[in-house]
This record gives sequence, C-alpha cells and structure tokens, in this order.
Amino acid sequence: MVLRRSRTRIAILTVGLLISFVLLGQLARAYAVQTTGITEGSQSTTPTQATSYTYSFTISREQLPALTYTEMTYIVRLGTVFNPVASVNGIPALRSSYQPSSGIFIFSSNQVGLAQINFISASTPTNISVQKASLKDNKAWAWSHGMDDNTNLQAQIDLIRAKGWRATLFMIGEAVSETRNEPDWIIDQPGLVELINAGWNIGNHSWSHACYGSASAAEVIDGQAVVERAVAASAHQERVVISFAAPCFDTDYVPIFDALRDGTTTLLVNELGSGSPALMNVDGTDVTVGEVTAVGVSSADYNLGRDTSIGRDTSAIQTFDWMATNAGPTKHFWFNTLTHGNNEAALGTVLNHAYRTYGPDGTNELWMAPEDEIYSYLLVRDRTTITGGELSVGGPVAFYWEYMPLVVR
Ligand SMILES: [Zn+2]
Repeated sequence: MVLRRSRTRIAILTVGLLISFVLLGQLARAYAVQTTGITEGSQSTTPTQATSYTYSFTISREQLPALTYTEMTYIVRLGTVFNPVASVNGIPALRSSYQPSSGIFIFSSNQVGLAQINFISASTPTNISVQKASLKDNKAWAWSHGMDDNTNLQAQIDLIRAKGWRATLFMIGEAVSETRNEPDWIIDQPGLVELINAGWNIGNHSWSHACYGSASAAEVIDGQAVVERAVAASAHQERVVISFAAPCFDTDYVPIFDALRDGTTTLLVNELGSGSPALMNVDGTDVTVGEVTAVGVSSADYNLGRDTSIGRDTSAIQTFDWMATNAGPTKHFWFNTLTHGNNEAALGTVLNHAYRTYGPDGTNELWMAPEDEIYSYLLVRDRTTITGGELSVGGPVAFYWEYMPLVVR
C-alpha cells in the first residue's frame, strides 16, 4: 500500500516535471530565436524576469451562406514578445507563426467571438494592432486553376497532385457516368469522388454545355445535381458546391446565374470568362504596371475571368513574375486560369515555375488553391469585423532560457 502510494506520487511528480520541461522548452525556443550573441548549447543559470499578458479583441461576422471553408487569418503586430498563443472563443488557433524580427504574429481560426493572445514580454508592449489578412495565411498572391469538359484531363490532374496542390474540374453533367472509370480519356463519378476526397473542387459546367441561344436555368440546375451526386458519394458530404463555369463564356448565363445564386442553389461564383478579370487585386483597387492591369475586386465581384493562355503557351509565368514583383500591403493578387484536355505540356512548365520560384521550393508566397477556397476566404474576410483591443497584465513570470537553433512553430 505504501509502495503503491509512493509510486503514484512519483508518477505525479514525473508528469509535473514533464509539463514544466515542455513549457520551459517553448519559452526557450521563443527566446532563442530573438536573441543574438548566444553560443549554441549555452543556458542561463538565473531566471529571466518577464510579465505575462493577454491581448483581447472581438471577432464578429455577418451571416454567411453555406460554405466549405470559413477560415480567417489575422495579422497582429505584437512587437518583441515570447511565445504568443492565440485562441478564439476558447478554441486554439488552427495555425500560427511569430516572426521575432518584425514582431508580427499571424494566426488562423474559423471561430468568432472573443479572441485572446497570451504572451510573455520583458517590457509592456505598446501600439498592438490587429488586421484581417487579405489572403489565407497572409500569402502575397493566389493562383487558382480550372479544367473544363471532362475529357483528356488526367495527365494535368496528375501534374497538379504531384505538387501537393489542388484545382477545380468543371463538369458537363450529362457526360458523367456514375460507374465508368476510364480516366485515361474521361473523368466520371469515381474519379470525381477521389478528387473530392483529396480536397479538390468540382464545379458545375451545365448539363449539356448549352450556349449561344440555348442557355437555361435547367442547364444550371441539372448540371448542379450531377456534381452534388458526386459529393454525396464522397467522404466529404459536407462540401458545398459553389462554383459554376458558363459554357462558351456565354453571358446569357449572367441573369440566369444571378437568379439561381440568390439562395435557390448553393452556387456563389460564376467563372464567366467574358468581360470579367482573370487577374485581380483582392484589396479592391485597380493596379496597372506596364501593360498589365489587375482589376480591383472584393467578394461582391463573383463573375470571374479565365485566362486561357496555358492552353497555348507558358506566358502565365510572366503573370506570376508580375504578381510577385508588384505585390504589397494593399496589393494582393489573384490569377484564375483555365485549360482543356491535352494541355499538360504548358501546364507542367507553368506548375514547375510556380512551385520552384514562389511555392514550397521557393519564397512560399503563393497561395495555390481551388477557386471555391479562395472565393470563400474573400467572402468570410469581407463579412468579418474586428472590434475592441485591450491589453491586460497577467503577472510576473520567471524562466530559464536555453539556446536552440529552432524556428518558432
Ligand atoms: Zn466547356
């Protein structure tokens, strides 16, 4: 009995020590990356004195339509602090990062309500500010790609998936078989289900590709049913189908789409093509540099243009380079592209450039995502409001630091 009790005590002590080590480790990492002149492996023998703080503000949101993606990224200028941790409505942030050199803390959450950022600082922070990020994870610019008309798309799908990226397929409903699985020449429901399960967007490209005088609401509604059938057969039945691409870029679909967008269907975006911008500034103002203009948009602009150059050549690379050169605090660009079947040669080159130069193998400034995810972000962003902003003092904190060449999570 005595032995058992002491074992329990040892177990409690061990757990307690482990928790202390974990907390100390986090502090040490936070401290280490913003400290210079410390030799690797060195350790302080006296505790550093600091104070714990909580910065609070309120996130509110207007009513949203049904959406798959409701995540928002926030930019918080904290200054020099240790170990910032965010929660909203008591729920931990989905992701966060802190850059000691700029003092900027970035976090993402799909929650609304009271946002709290806990941190430790050696001096009282001043002028803390919060703003919504123009794009998810505060990326500099975005690229979405769509592929139309069901056939000869597998090679392009494979190229995109090989990068770990996702895109959109716009399907002609009447051509989609529920059971055929011959992806070498046509994508049917089994292929769509696999892509939905991998986070791809499937869009509605009408029932029979009717255009130039034969556009109708039934074409949109019947095409929608086919995509929704694939979603229902997938492991992600919660996915909301918001994307439509008007066949032949036919503007006759504009009034039809507008009527169906108004709650009659879950559709929210029309990749119209004709007359709408494919290169956009999601911060709302037109940006012209040289021969190129990015048209200012918000989530109120739901008719998107479609750049078709990848079907012919690799000039999209110049557009990427333009976006990277001209991006800035009020210039966050979004480029939307389109290919049809057998366009894998140019797409492969464009993908490689994007990935190596601006993606995970490069600056990582590019947000490559399906159109529905990017549009959803803009919608959530535009309907989100930040109010208040208050700093409260927790109390004194003492910790030992230890140098480790680590990056804060
Ligand atoms: Zn088409």
